[in-house]
Amino acid sequence: MSDEVEVPESHPRYHSLLTRHRIEAGVEKGITSQQGLIAQGRGEAFDYLLGEETIPSADRAARAAAAALLRADQPVLSVNGNVAALVPEEMVELAEVVDADLEVNLFNRTEARIERITDHLREHGATDVKGLTADARIPGIDHERAKVDADGIYSADVVVVPLEDGDRAEALGEMGKTEIVIDLNPLSRSPQVASIPIIDNVLRALPNITDHAEELAGASGDELARIVDEFDPDEALQDAERRIRTASESGG
Ligand code: ATP
Repeated sequence: MSDEVEVPESHPRYHSLLTRHRIEAGVEKGITSQQGLIAQGRGEAFDYLLGEETIPSADRAARAAAAALLRADQPVLSVNGNVAALVPEEMVELAEVVDADLEVNLFNRTEARIERITDHLREHGATDVKGLTADARIPGIDHERAKVDADGIYSADVVVVPLEDGDRAEALGEMGKTEIVIDLNPLSRSPQVASIPIIDNVLRALPNITDHAEELAGASGDELARIVDEFDPDEALQDAERRIRTASESGG
């Protein structure tokens, strides 16, 4: 993106500034909603307290997520406006490595924005992007927010939902799916209801899942199952919360 050159890589806040620029550019292009700016601000605060790095428990979660995706019959990666602005290439790459579909899934859904995000993902290498058919509904969610593709998120056995809204995350979990949530706030409802919560920035978490998936590509089904079974979501959430609270006690 052309506006990225404005931030010199040597700047101590390079990644944070780059992220802001991408979100701003996303809003300007009409792929990210204004609510997305607020979500970004919340995420940034938590990332600051996490030390802006992937903590070991988040790395274990990313490995479990990779194993779950490799084992899945029908994995789907959900893309919203922030994810499209921040990590379009990384989403496309993960989808390729684990053979998953991409589906645009918006909290503030408009057809125009779905089309713009679909085009944006195609510009970053995606071929097939779901989300516009919207011929199925997630049970228990109000009409607009319930819309998904019948052959996408609706029938998926494993879903990756970065920055998902709490209600929808809960409803997807109730459908019996293995739900992988990426969110910087361990106290948010979405990671709390996830089978595999990854408390990390999507900018780091997505390439990390992809790396683990590449490394696990030759693993047996039993080995993948063991990795998923051994992962403890509560422990991961508690570890991240402890890290955040300790950081605030010691002043950052
Ligand atoms: P819930 O209903 O689940 O409690 P919420 O109201 O806390 O959700 P929002 O403010 O709507 O959530 O969504 C923003 C969420 O996305 C925050 O939890 C924030 O930490 C997270 N977030 C924002 N940017 C990123 C990012 N780059 N990587 C990971 N998570 C992020």
